[in-house]
Amino acid sequence: MPVATSITTRVHVAIAGAVQGVGFRPFVYRLAQEMGLHGWVHNGAAGVFLEVEGNEETVRTFVRRLESDKPAMALIQSLEATFLNPVGYVDFQIRASTDGEKRAFVLPDFATCPACLADIFDPANRRYRYPFTNCTNCGPRFSIIASLPYDRAATTMNRFVMCPDCAREYHDPSDRRFHAQPNACPACGPQLALWNEKGDVVATRHAALLATAEAIRDGKVVAVKGIGGFHLMVDARNEDAVRTLRARKHREEKPFALLLPNFDQARLYCSASETETRLLRSPECPIVLLRRRGPSDLAPSIAPDNPTLGIMLPGNPLHHLLLRALDAPVVATSGNLSEEPLCTDEHEALARLAGLADFFLVHDRPIFRHVDDSIVREIAGRELVLRRARGFAPLPISVGGDLPPILAVGGHQKNTVAIAVGSQIFLSQHVGDLESEESQRAFASVTTAMQSLYDFKPQTVACDLHPDYHSTQYAEHSGISVERVQHHAAHVLACMAENQIGPPVLGIAWDGSGMGSDGTLWGGEVLHVTNTDIRRVAHLRPFRLPGNDKAVREPRRVALAILYEIFGDEVVEVDSPALRAFTPTELTALLTMLRRRVNAPVTTSAGRLFDAFASLTGLRQVTSFEGQAAMALENARVSTNEEQPYPYKVCPKENVLWLDWEPAVRALLTEPTTPAIASARFHAMLVAMAVDVAKRVGEENVVLSGGCFQNRRLTEGMIGGLRGAGYRPLWHQRVPPNDGGLALGQIMAAQRRKD
Ligand code: ZN
Ligand code: ZN
Ligand code: FE
Repeated sequence: MPVATSITTRVHVAIAGAVQGVGFRPFVYRLAQEMGLHGWVHNGAAGVFLEVEGNEETVRTFVRRLESDKPAMALIQSLEATFLNPVGYVDFQIRASTDGEKRAFVLPDFATCPACLADIFDPANRRYRYPFTNCTNCGPRFSIIASLPYDRAATTMNRFVMCPDCAREYHDPSDRRFHAQPNACPACGPQLALWNEKGDVVATRHAALLATAEAIRDGKVVAVKGIGGFHLMVDARNEDAVRTLRARKHREEKPFALLLPNFDQARLYCSASETETRLLRSPECPIVLLRRRGPSDLAPSIAPDNPTLGIMLPGNPLHHLLLRALDAPVVATSGNLSEEPLCTDEHEALARLAGLADFFLVHDRPIFRHVDDSIVREIAGRELVLRRARGFAPLPISVGGDLPPILAVGGHQKNTVAIAVGSQIFLSQHVGDLESEESQRAFASVTTAMQSLYDFKPQTVACDLHPDYHSTQYAEHSGISVERVQHHAAHVLACMAENQIGPPVLGIAWDGSGMGSDGTLWGGEVLHVTNTDIRRVAHLRPFRLPGNDKAVREPRRVALAILYEIFGDEVVEVDSPALRAFTPTELTALLTMLRRRVNAPVTTSAGRLFDAFASLTGLRQVTSFEGQAAMALENARVSTNEEQPYPYKVCPKENVLWLDWEPAVRALLTEPTTPAIASARFHAMLVAMAVDVAKRVGEENVVLSGGCFQNRRLTEGMIGGLRGAGYRPLWHQRVPPNDGGLALGQIMAAQRRKD
């Protein structure tokens, strides 16, 4: 995506690590001067904070050089860059430290630092091959801490007494392990054991690790207790093993993530841009979605029909040692049954993962709270967090200005919860879909643990409008005053909060579905947010979902419903792959539902419109996981970049504009083309619709939120289209655009009502 040099930007950077007292602020000052950038830098309780503004290209280079040119003694543990609108700084200042704001601060779990990595691979070091090596700059934090202040007694390391060597390091201010709470060594810290499926110990310590590598090489499934929970691992080149894992996990086609020994292997299988490379090697150590290179020795069923792979590099000493021993890629999927929360305790794992794993590589350091692998992808040259967990949670989102104590319980899928403490919002780690009892228990414990960690007493609890969501019911039974927040308003407000943008904005909220204020299922919404009001100004033309939940899993049903809107009973005459995917009996039954409007709720969902087009183009008729059809449409590639948008209409209806897809469907039916071109024209149409509405409303800032903006092609198209028309698009970065970001928006909505 070409960078428009006319657009200026501000970047807010938060750097944690050994960056204080090493000449970091003067370095930042000199760099900003050299590059002609204005802004400020200061030391805060949680690290160094700085802002600069200038043209986008220069600001990006500046951020890169913060890492590459840093003072020799400085060690950057995490660098968070948030791109914002410029505010017009006129010079660059070193500001006084703000030690006043010493909010107790919990850092996330960070990947093993280079110094600790050197220790575990140095035969002369006392921590040689020790899988629980860490220091002040790396290792577990959020996953092991029960309460504040953060010291060893409050962590799950409290059962281990430091040996004299470790204690000396811990008390020596010049040592890298000074006050490193989980400090440990082979003499005093946690140890590994390998269990068979009955829980008998098969091997211990390094022998357990070697036996694990052997079992994986043999095609076995091994449950491995990591930092924030269990992974199930198999040899990624062994098709039988991968299929066995799929069958046991009841996971048909949803892609598995890979854990690779090193960056060179990542490059062997995938291409990685500069941003993607940085993400792979970052202390957050997330799963990064990368474009695969051609054929490889990887098992085909890792990610069937998918041009991307989720890749993660080792982020803790155990993974480093195991992957070094294997020197081969492994599938590393969360240790759970599909859609259940991550297992954290080895005894619980033995029961819950019975029948899934052949062996269990465990250790005796308890995990206090589950923290999944985070998932990120690059969109428009920046990172976009799709699942916010390890490395990111619980870093707060600063909103400026004090908030009343509000608890937000999020949505139903990809649930997270949030609390507002002062001017900061703490968003929990990913909890997951609240379908099963296990997930609902995890939701309750995360909600309670977040509150007790920050000693937080809410006055208000914010939740979704949907009465059937488990989170809504939890709010209703909390005994605290409840603020119900419309789903798409929460999406837009979350994106505004992350980008530190106030009203007025035009919010484009496109997702699977959420309860609308009229009781129907919304999902293709354009909202006008002003100081006083959030008004629905446009939405996709409504259609029905025959069979409700079943329509979500069968794009062909949505395609049929859309054709029925256009052609009525004549629909049976239409020639389309969608209709050919049904038996005559099925078709009759579904048409009856549509005619009688029984079990066929009305929706304006953009996600479902993606499904309909995936079906009409013949790409996907039935799906086995959420988002599969939309992904197929996103991934259908074209050789040319510029495709004419499908035609559409904007129809004024009472107080709202209908974005009508009928001309597009008619064009698709009458002009035969390839799925790739149809997909390009469909994406272009959605962009054109958004730009069209933006022109009618005329707000400069246009906010993009909702699950559809996980789609790189759509998001980049929107950004380009809106900028081209003179608007300023704002999209997500470190808060997910999907329902994982709702809780943040719910807090902002509840706060608006208090003002
Ligand atoms: Zn370290
Ligand atoms: Zn020790
Ligand atoms: Fe949503």
